[in-house]
Amino acid sequence: MKEKDKELLKTTIKEEIELLTQDIFTLEEQLRPIKKDCTLDNTAHQSLKLDQNITIQRYEEAKKRLNRLKSAYLKIDTKEYGVCKECEEKISLERLKLIPESLYCVDCMNELGL
Ligand SMILES: [Zn+2]
Repeated sequence: MKEKDKELLKTTIKEEIELLTQDIFTLEEQLRPIKKDCTLDNTAHQSLKLDQNITIQRYEEAKKRLNRLKSAYLKIDTKEYGVCKECEEKISLERLKLIPESLYCVDCMNELGL
């Protein structure tokens, strides 16, 4: 991989990490326990709980992606980065620009059903 591309990907990863950290912060705020609100009927309370489950899922996903981005950032200067874990072919730069933490090429990802 060219140095120029590496630098570009590093910047992309850094930006993604910043955005995600913000997201996680916002989600954490939303995840504060729901107070017992006597003005809410059961249905309203159920739907609040449902909303919160979605928020929890988004929060978990965001944290996982943050970890993947961080480890991609640490690996970017190694030969391991940008190489598919399955077929050991290079992952295309176009794909890395979109998803810099990619561990698999498009073909393998489809094959593995990821
Ligand atoms: Zn592959």
